[in-house]
Amino acid sequence: MNNFTYSQATGIDNAVNEITGHEKSMFIAGGTNLIDLMKENVLHPDHLIDINGLHLTSIEFLDDGRLFLGALVTNADTAWHPEVEKKYPLLAEAILAGASPQLRNMATNGGNLMQRTRCYYFYDTSTPCNKRTPGSGCSAINGYNRIHAILGTSQHCIAVHPSDMCVALRAINAVVQVKGKAGERLIPIEHFHRLPAYTPQIDNNLAHDELITGIILPREHFNTHYKYLKVRDRASYAFALVSVAVVLRLKEGVIDEIRIALGGVAHKPWRDEGVENWLKDKPATDENFAEAADMILQEAKTFGANDFKPALAKRAIVRACREALNREI
Ligand SMILES: Cc1cc2nc3c(=O)[nH]c(=O)nc-3n(C[C@H](O)[C@H](O)[C@H](O)COP(=O)(O)OP(=O)(O)OC[C@H]3O[C@@H](n4cnc5c(N)ncnc54)[C@H](O)[C@@H]3O)c2cc1C
Ligand code: SF4
Repeated sequence: MNNFTYSQATGIDNAVNEITGHEKSMFIAGGTNLIDLMKENVLHPDHLIDINGLHLTSIEFLDDGRLFLGALVTNADTAWHPEVEKKYPLLAEAILAGASPQLRNMATNGGNLMQRTRCYYFYDTSTPCNKRTPGSGCSAINGYNRIHAILGTSQHCIAVHPSDMCVALRAINAVVQVKGKAGERLIPIEHFHRLPAYTPQIDNNLAHDELITGIILPREHFNTHYKYLKVRDRASYAFALVSVAVVLRLKEGVIDEIRIALGGVAHKPWRDEGVENWLKDKPATDENFAEAADMILQEAKTFGANDFKPALAKRAIVRACREALNREI
């Protein structure tokens, strides 16, 4: 058993002060990922800072019309919030595709951004894993890698980020608001999560002393043509093998704007803006979506048990784009 101490943060500054300088302390929100990792002996914080008492539980419009989602709003309350359902239905659809009702009632928006990979070897402390123990090796590359990445991998890690919510946030161009010892800053979602490269133990660009205070959704919203498609081994309560978040806008019968974000294929939600630009002003046909999918996936690399993923991802992209196009409002 690993001993740890526990305190309840009394305010945002207090939470930041508590974590600053204590390398092995961690924030705890819903606990749905962190407690599992502690029980599995993967993480050993020596101090937990409970942030559930902080006033980060609101969803409200900012003066400029953007929507602020507090870090401690549960995934369930976010998905069922009337303004999210009305203006950002892609986000609601993605959140509701994840986990189970009970988990979504506990899981928070901040915790969802920070959840760790579901790589089997990361959880199995009897096996080498560079993310858990840097320098020990990657068991997945030559092991069982059915759920693993095909894009942006490195020779040190081929894990994927497991979140559904974050894939939709990537399509929406959300921004993560954080506060640390040096003050407040905003991190665009595309720069929040990292690729593994040489440091797979670092999932994201949040500093240890920084607290996520909220997520900001841009004013611009897509609530007519959108789709979150999740392909998984079971119909519910399973992580994505491949997921696709699509938003699209048409003008005079051709694509005016399209965004395609992929989950289950990389260490971070994946987008290729070059391909999205290629689709602009083209007819919204299956043929064009398929050609775009080929371009997105042209650098895909597989590792054996996940050889099926590029073909699956291509079909999922085409189907998600088609369903976004044909959605009846
Ligand atoms: C069985 C199961 C199935 C699941 N299925 C899915 C799924 O299909 N799709 C999906 O997307 N997710 C799924 N999840 C994951 C779930 O969404 C996450 O566990 C949850 O979102 C984490 O939120 P939490 O508040 O419980 O975080 P916690 O477990 O409390 O914390 C997780 C991490 O986030 C950090 N943290 C939390 N809040 C903050 C903050 N405000 N600032 C800085 N750091 C913070 C903690 O220090 C910790 O490192 C599943 C989980 C389980 C257990
Ligand atoms: S893929 Fe990443 S998380 Fe999985 S064993 Fe390899 S290093 Fe560890």
